[in-house]
Amino acid sequence: MTTNWLFPNLLPEELLISACARFADRLAYRNLLGLNEDVFGQRIIAISSDLPAYLEDFVARLPGSGRPTADIVIDEHTQLPYYSPFILPNQLAAARQAMRGTQAGIVHAHVGMFASDVFIPPTLRLCAKCVAADRDAFEEAYWHRSHQLPGMVVCPQHAIPLWETNVATRMGKGRTFCRSAESAWRATTSAEREGKTLQAPRTWHPHLLAIARNVAWLLEQRDLCPGPESFQPRYQALLSKCGLASHRGDVDWPAFRRALHGYYPEELLTYIGCPMPNESDHHWVAKIVRKARHSAGPPLRHLLLMHFLDCPAQEFFTLPTDRHFFVPGPWPCLNPVGGHYRELRVTRCAVDFTDGSTPRGTFMCDDCGYAYYRHGPDRDENARYEMFRVRAYGPVWEEKLRAMWQNPTIQLQEIALVLGVENQTVKRRAQHLGLAAARYRIGLGHPVAPLPERGRAPYDEIHELLPRYKAVWLEARAKHPDWTVVQLREIAENAYIYTHRHDLAWLKANTPAPKRRPTPPTLPIDWVARDIELAQLVDSIAQSLVSKHGAAKRLSRNAICSPTKRASMIVINLWRLPLTRATLARYTGTEHTRPGEPPGEAPA
Ligand SMILES: [Zn+2]
Ligand SMILES: [Zn+2]
Repeated sequence: MTTNWLFPNLLPEELLISACARFADRLAYRNLLGLNEDVFGQRIIAISSDLPAYLEDFVARLPGSGRPTADIVIDEHTQLPYYSPFILPNQLAAARQAMRGTQAGIVHAHVGMFASDVFIPPTLRLCAKCVAADRDAFEEAYWHRSHQLPGMVVCPQHAIPLWETNVATRMGKGRTFCRSAESAWRATTSAEREGKTLQAPRTWHPHLLAIARNVAWLLEQRDLCPGPESFQPRYQALLSKCGLASHRGDVDWPAFRRALHGYYPEELLTYIGCPMPNESDHHWVAKIVRKARHSAGPPLRHLLLMHFLDCPAQEFFTLPTDRHFFVPGPWPCLNPVGGHYRELRVTRCAVDFTDGSTPRGTFMCDDCGYAYYRHGPDRDENARYEMFRVRAYGPVWEEKLRAMWQNPTIQLQEIALVLGVENQTVKRRAQHLGLAAARYRIGLGHPVAPLPERGRAPYDEIHELLPRYKAVWLEARAKHPDWTVVQLREIAENAYIYTHRHDLAWLKANTPAPKRRPTPPTLPIDWVARDIELAQLVDSIAQSLVSKHGAAKRLSRNAICSPTKRASMIVINLWRLPLTRATLARYTGTEHTRPGEPPGEAPA
């Protein structure tokens, strides 16, 4: 095997075929098939400018000291790093394997170029300033790999338009070596080069330069191969950031198309081979934004989209792929009584969407059971300690509430302060835990302690409280067996009210009977004697009235009966008071009897 002692060192960013061309120039090869054999060990082969094969054979023929490996040649002198982020890792490995070996025909298939309709520049390009700089540094010009990629109109380093030479990018079989950059440059005049320099409107320049710089960055990466499925979440995050998709990832295609139209001139996209998407959803933009499994699609289209989304490739490939709406964990536990307040020990965050698009993160502490949530996405790192509401207080917090609640010397406000909630929340949680009763002092000697609110108490509370109040009531009765209800209520008012409210039957059964004054036995009324007595009384009253007002004035029955203070009794019983009745008639001029009773009829 020959050793190519005179093969030139590969220069920075130089295509392998460029060095081969310089070697051919240097040795003034006339028989190109012989040159093929000397450099690659094969006579009739095609070496492509972008993704050449036979690289193990190539490096094997280089002088031993300081010779690169085939992989270094791939990484630094071919365009494979440009395609690597957009294909599957196994495709990348297969492409590398094919380039190291002799499978020149399948390399392009592995990187997806056969399926791509992106325009590959047909001739090689040079940057006038790169030529000058390379001549200064290395005494000759050479073909740079970045200048030859799709969409490259300006030099990423010098930001000037490239010169389009007439040296073909693709070579037919047996035409292994292209012309060297130096000889292509020397063979033209500056006027000729001027005429063939790529001319684009001034307004396109920022777009073209951004693409060029992204391409240059991609070429510098080594084994950047995140997999095609990593693109969709990153695009969704960027699209939702600029309002073109919901947080959940639903893209507003009409708005997206309008924005893209406003951003890129239609002619620019056509010029670089990515025409503006049409009305249908199935255009190239939709294709590369949607989830891809096999290949992410042509790199140039991604670079256009990244630039539109104001995200350089360098930044794009560092974006999280699991769609973080919240700052990365661990997150703080915000339980004020958990014993680890604000310590970063929460590792679980569940995301759901409240109104279909607003992400809501629930952070759960496994140590104390406390869980809180907030709405995303987080604006910055400071959002880490924010919470919107508590979702679960957990056993530690509840135990603390229980302990404080049952201590009557601790004020409600103090409990609320310690537990980090409002007074009302303390009450609600206590009631929820069946604690509501515990804050009311029960027992003799607390006649004015507050009672639970009016109305029917919750079942749990009655269950706990009623027996205790009943015991208080029975204790009061046992101490003062001869007391009345009124007296007992003075020392056990709450017990009386509570049992009255919740178990009236029991209270009635356990209440001392009311003490009644003894009533004397009633004797039958002697109506005859009463009639005589009343008749005399009525007569004396009537006479005094007559002497007062004169005989001419007619007296009413009421006027005579009222002074007796027994008027109603007299009127009701007139029917059995014949003397009284007759006396009244004498003064009033009428016979008064009870309705239905025959006048003059008296009981026997
Ligand atoms: Zn340049
Ligand atoms: Zn906790």
